[in-house]
Amino acid sequence: MILTKSLNKLINRFKINDEISLIKTIFFRFALYIYLLMENVKCLIIGSGPAGYTAAIYAARADLNPVVYTGMEPGGQLTTTTDVDNFPGYPNGIEGPIMMQELQKQAERFGTDVRIGHVTRVELNSEKGKMHTVTIDENKTLYAKTIIISTGASAKYLGLPSEQRLIGGGVSACAVCDGFFYKNQEVAIVGGGDTAAEEATYLANICSKVTMIIRRNEMRASKAMQHRVNKTNNIEILYESEICKVLGDNVVEAIEVVNNKTEVKTKIPISGLFIAIGHQPNTEIFRGQIEMDDLGYIITKGKSTKTNIPGVFASGDVQDKEYRQAVTAAGTGCMAALDAERYIGTL
Ligand SMILES: Cc1cc2nc3c(=O)[nH]c(=O)nc-3n(C[C@H](O)[C@H](O)[C@H](O)COP(=O)(O)OP(=O)(O)OC[C@H]3O[C@@H](n4cnc5c(N)ncnc54)[C@H](O)[C@@H]3O)c2cc1C
Repeated sequence: MILTKSLNKLINRFKINDEISLIKTIFFRFALYIYLLMENVKCLIIGSGPAGYTAAIYAARADLNPVVYTGMEPGGQLTTTTDVDNFPGYPNGIEGPIMMQELQKQAERFGTDVRIGHVTRVELNSEKGKMHTVTIDENKTLYAKTIIISTGASAKYLGLPSEQRLIGGGVSACAVCDGFFYKNQEVAIVGGGDTAAEEATYLANICSKVTMIIRRNEMRASKAMQHRVNKTNNIEILYESEICKVLGDNVVEAIEVVNNKTEVKTKIPISGLFIAIGHQPNTEIFRGQIEMDDLGYIITKGKSTKTNIPGVFASGDVQDKEYRQAVTAAGTGCMAALDAERYIGTL
């Protein structure tokens, strides 16, 4: 009798212990799972264009252990173009995608952790020294001491299938980048704002003729810009006109333009088509949390890359509607990493 009682006691004790160890195991596994889902990083770089990778090179060499999230377009805008002729250090030019692979390798050489992933949410903390919370692909959370925003600005296109098919084959959204390839040739540019007017006069210096296609019956550009365009002999303006088709198998050969009023269609032979209808800065996830201008570009302070949020810096096209070049993006990427390093030094 006494023996049975003792045995039962022992069994019950073991049962309780089993349950406790089961609870412990579940708890530890859950904690490990949460730990794996969350992570603290010193320097998070959002975007893998020239700005993001340059920031990564500097941040890695300063022991900030940067983590780069590539976003939907690993390598950024230059992966959509062929020849890049104006980035210093490549005397014979280089293909955009190759240049971006090299920048990635250079960033990784110093220990940058490059990860495929899209930042889907941020909670920026406006108190100095506090961590910012970032969600990746809706399911992973990490905490960042500093963030470098290098999400770029995407060029707007007309959306015609024939235009999309010929991007990189004569259709370009950057006259300063690609105008040179059409030296002494006839080109067209779409748009009637300041950028279109500026790029039309830039192209007019290089190309034999520039046809400017404007949807309205007037230009939106400033009077000074309009004046510059109007006094340039080799620019012809087609008002109230739209492109309905880009013609050519592998490269642009001509465009079909329709006059909105008369509905008359005209075929214009050209070898390059420049789209200058604006850019969209990729700042949707930061809206309402960080200072932006009315177009959505992030505002940086003075000559620095500091934003109005402590520990958050912006570099590249996302904060620059003026120059939008790979080398200027890389330059501000370098500045952002130096600013982040100095910020950490003050904590
Ligand atoms: C067709 C074309 C040709 C060009 N040719 C030249 C040239 O010859 N020379 C030159 O100097 N410039 C050229 N440019 C301009 C140049 O590409 C840009 O100025 C430069 O790429 C800007 O660099 P960036 O790093 O600021 O942004 P981008 O290169 O635009 O990179 C932005 C990055 O942010 C990522 N991203 C966006 N949102 C998120 C998010 N939520 N989470 C994570 N990542 C995100 C994207 O995936 C991308 O990797 C050209 C541009 C185009 C479109």
